[in-house]
Order: sequence, then C-alpha cells, then structure tokens
Amino acid sequence: MTSLPVRQNTLDLIGNTPLVLLKGPSEAAGCEIWGKCEFANPGASVKDRAALWIIRDAEARGELGPGGTVVEGTAGNTGIGIALVANARGYKTIIVIPDNQSKEKMDTLRALGAELVLVPPTKFADPNHFVHTSRRIAEETEGAVWANQFDNVANRRAHIEGTAPEIWEQMEGRVDGFTCAVGTGGTLAGVGMGLKAFDENIRIALTDPFGAALYNYYANGELKAEGSSVAEGIGQGRITANLEGAPVDTQFRISDEEGMEWVARLLREEGLCLGLSSGINVAGAVQLGKQLGQSGGGRKRVATILCDTGFRYLSSLYNAEWLESKNLPVFDWLR
Ligand code: PMP
Repeated sequence: MTSLPVRQNTLDLIGNTPLVLLKGPSEAAGCEIWGKCEFANPGASVKDRAALWIIRDAEARGELGPGGTVVEGTAGNTGIGIALVANARGYKTIIVIPDNQSKEKMDTLRALGAELVLVPPTKFADPNHFVHTSRRIAEETEGAVWANQFDNVANRRAHIEGTAPEIWEQMEGRVDGFTCAVGTGGTLAGVGMGLKAFDENIRIALTDPFGAALYNYYANGELKAEGSSVAEGIGQGRITANLEGAPVDTQFRISDEEGMEWVARLLREEGLCLGLSSGINVAGAVQLGKQLGQSGGGRKRVATILCDTGFRYLSSLYNAEWLESKNLPVFDWLR
C-alpha cells in the first residue's frame, strides 16, 4: 500500500495541495511562514478551486447539465480553471476577454479549447465591458451559466470547505495567522471564515497591493486606492459579494518591489518559481509574523497562499525589457 496520493478522477486533483515551510521568510519574520502550494493544481493556480466549486454549484442548482456552456469574463487564471473543469465535465467554455490582454493568455485559453470573444477595453459603466458582455452572452446562450466569480459565493465556499480545513489539518491545529491578497476576495474571505470556525483567535490579515482600494477600507472605512501595481489577479476596488463579512483583523500594503524581492529570494534560495501575487502574499505574511511575534507566547505560525506559477509570466515578470518598461528593478540573473 502506498501513502502517496492516488485519485480516481482528474477533478480530484484540484485542492489538497501541499503546504511548505518557507525558510527565508520564516527567518526574516522570526516565526514559521508556511506557503500553500496552489501552483500545484492542474491549472497551476488557486483559481481551479473556484472554478470547480462554481461549476458544481451550478450543476447542483440544476442550471448546468449535459451539453451546457460556462461563460466568464476573465483573462486569467479563472478562465484556465474553468476551461479545464468544463472539459472534464463535458461543457463548452466561452471566455470574454479585453483585446489588449497578452497573447500568451489568449493562446493558453485557446489551447485548452475555450472559445474566446474579444471586446475592446472599456470602463465598467460601459455595457460593452467584458464583465457585462459575458453576462449577456450567458443569458442569450441556450444551456449556459455565467460563472460570475466576483459575486458568486460558491467561489469562497471552495476555500471555506477546502483550503481552510486543509491548512488547519496540515498545521495540526496550530495556526496563529493567515494572510493573502484579494482579487475576487474568495480566498481571503473563505480561508478567513473557515479558519475562524476552527479557532476565532487566528489573526486574518489583508495583504493589499498598491492601486487597490481595500487597504484603506479596512484601515479607515474608505474605499480609496493609492499608487499602482503590475501584479495580475489581485487589486480590488469594491466590496464584492465574496468579501462581504470577511473577518479581516488587520491589513498590510505591499509594493511590487517588495513582492519582487520575495519572488527573487524564493526562486534563487528555495527553488520556487512563482507569480508576483505570491511574492506580495509572502511579504504580507512576514509582516504578520513579525506583528504576532511581538505579542509573545512562543514561536508563531503563519500561513499564506502561493497563488500561481511564475511560468505564466515569462514575458513579463521574468523578462528584463518588460520590467524596465514598467520602471521595475530587473532581477540580477536576467541582466
Ligand atoms: N493571485 C492570482 C495570480 C490570481 O489569479 C488571483 C485570482 N484573481 C488571486 C491571486 C486572488 O484570488 P481571489 O480571487 O480568491 O481573491
């Protein structure tokens, strides 16, 4: 008998990701910093979980059945997760995407079999915005559902029922803090709610990039953005349905440069190639660890999310010309 994981179904490959102790961040924080390896999901990101829960929820409500179609407005990891889960369940995928998105993203979605609908980039108030267009296509397509990841709380249930209990079990019930950044808020709210159900003393922190409005919201009640960030998949300007009631105890704001320092150190010192949102999360976890350490009472344990693989950003985060064009420091080894 093997104790190595064996699965009867490819969809069971989503979730139950490893948790890894991060050496450099732990030393910097003076506590234990653990990373949840979401890049180990089949679509190489945390969003496979949301895709699976949203599709199962639509099936359970009788809205999605044989020959059905899943429609979403997204350019990123959610589209990849939806395309894979939809393939495994026999559904078509339609992804509405602004036509200024990177070629790699479009190529990836096409490679997975998704149908792409390109729309011009425009403001949210415009009815032709990709989010509204995706809703309309879902309404007009026979047998289709709109995934609606921002306001469909099946997204955060993936983390209440999956990610949080996994972290609790993997850390053997000794968790002092958790933090991550917000795109839809599914991960932060869901893991926060799930962990608090085990132990309400676990401190939940928002780690916000610049250019997002949530840091100010949790700090002083005002949705107000400052600065900017090139991090993909994170940075929110409103309280989505997934964020409503999120148990946020404290908040940090992390620059792209600081996130990049952790991306660089995790790659060069620990052999992990990650996207920028993971670096920002780790920077936030180090701050949370330092803060918790000041309260005394032994060595603290903090968890965060390693959201996606750096292989998705070879022409951006890992490309010297691109970094220079964004006025960001170029990693030493790329010079
Ligand atoms: N990092 C990356 C790379 C993502 O694609 C996302 C999803 N938008 C997140 C972080 C944030 O996850 P959530 O939507 O659950 O807030």
